[in-house]
Amino acid sequence: MKPIVAIVGRPNVGKSMLFNKLIGKRLSIVEDTPGVTRDRIYGETDWNGRSFILVDTGGIEPRTDDQILSFMRDQAQIAIENATVIIFLTDVRTGLTASDQEVANMLLRSGKPIVLAVNKMDSTGAPDPDFYEFYNLGLGDPIAVSAVHGHGTGDLLDACLQYFPPEEEEEEEDDAIKVAVIGKPNAGKSSLVNRILGEERVIVSNVAGTTRDAIDSYFENDQGRFVFIDTAGIRRKSKVEEDIEKYSVLRATMAIERSDVCLILIDATEGVTEQDTKVAGLAHEAGKASIIVVNKWDLIEKDGKTMDKMREEVRNGLAFMTYAPILFISAKTGQRVDRLFELIDYVSNQASTRITTGMLNSVLADAQTRVQPPSDKGRRLKIYYMTQVGIRPPHFVVFCNDARLFHFSYQRYLENCLRNTFGLEGTPIILSIRQRG
Ligand code: GDP
Ligand code: GDP
Repeated sequence: MKPIVAIVGRPNVGKSMLFNKLIGKRLSIVEDTPGVTRDRIYGETDWNGRSFILVDTGGIEPRTDDQILSFMRDQAQIAIENATVIIFLTDVRTGLTASDQEVANMLLRSGKPIVLAVNKMDSTGAPDPDFYEFYNLGLGDPIAVSAVHGHGTGDLLDACLQYFPPEEEEEEEDDAIKVAVIGKPNAGKSSLVNRILGEERVIVSNVAGTTRDAIDSYFENDQGRFVFIDTAGIRRKSKVEEDIEKYSVLRATMAIERSDVCLILIDATEGVTEQDTKVAGLAHEAGKASIIVVNKWDLIEKDGKTMDKMREEVRNGLAFMTYAPILFISAKTGQRVDRLFELIDYVSNQASTRITTGMLNSVLADAQTRVQPPSDKGRRLKIYYMTQVGIRPPHFVVFCNDARLFHFSYQRYLENCLRNTFGLEGTPIILSIRQRG
């Protein structure tokens, strides 16, 4: 798993500007998925040879000043739960505020590595005297940055990197499968995790200062070893539906990054909603193996065709993930919950599939014999060869004479040929087209 760096701070301190500066144009992890839009809240980048995920926890605008603190608490909480290092961003123009101090205390208590940055230090001369008041936060030496000009961002990243785990550790981490349980609010995420763990965990209420750090739950049975990442987290009572949704997307995003397999929970009584499509799209774009879990199956009145109909509805609603198996469960009664484990293990293995170049090229030759590659104005696409360059998800590079001729439909066809031959069930795959000669 790659380290996660989260940017936390009051509205308008410059979080999104800093995010954009650090990510630059190197954004998308996986190619765009038609029909799935998402806010730019995370991206992958690298510094001194270490790649990491950067998350902007902002993007939610409190409406009144007295809401700022509770919004920041939520942001900070999400970052504490998921990040490797937290950048706490402040603003020299507004100076140190009471809510900065509150959040700093909360971050300090969490024991997470915190890097304090003071933004809008645009001139490079002697620092603004107001800069020094940020020492009062008790978070160590502040780093002066200008998100607009980029000054200080190198120092900032150096400071973050020192908290990253050694690279070897990152690679040979614990072999338990990390499972993110994602879905819209009330889909039944907590219920499922509680059912699996066989205990009712206490759900922290929205009392000032309450934090719950340990949201990863380790679980072991004869099917394997699993870590469940519960994205339900703290229940925040907000009157604004939209805010709840944004927080759930942010939580889901970070949990997905840390996971090997995503369980996408759909509420059977509501069918596939727009928000489900969005959450599933995040897992797809992150290149994670996924299982679509239709929950609350106990509430559905059934006849002989109900499951087939629902399956079709799910396939239509989540058309970009036809590779994901669908399981119908009830977190409440426990129906088929035990089937999840073998499925998680299975798709996790599928995502790690390695296929030899020889086998790939015989499938490629066969595919081209059956359906001729497209041509345009007398020039025909020639595919020279194909090789696998990565796993999780399986990533293939295809070399051809002219990338423009390699239409999406032929890529789709090739993807289907690969899936028909090698399975690759439950995992997205990436085809990178390279033009040669
Ligand atoms: P966010 O709400 O924390 O994401 O803040 P934004 O990134 O949207 O920035 C808020 C405002 O501060 C915008 O008007 C930015 O142009 C401005 N801003 C951000 N970074 C800097 C900076 O380094 N210097 C100056 N002068 N302005 C900045
Ligand atoms: P979360 O927000 O996704 O974590 O959802 P919760 O686990 O809190 O569940 C939301 C509501 O749905 C609660 O009232 C649960 O009791 C209920 N619920 C969850 N799973 C099931 C299920 O399988 N069947 C039924 N009947 N209710 C469920």
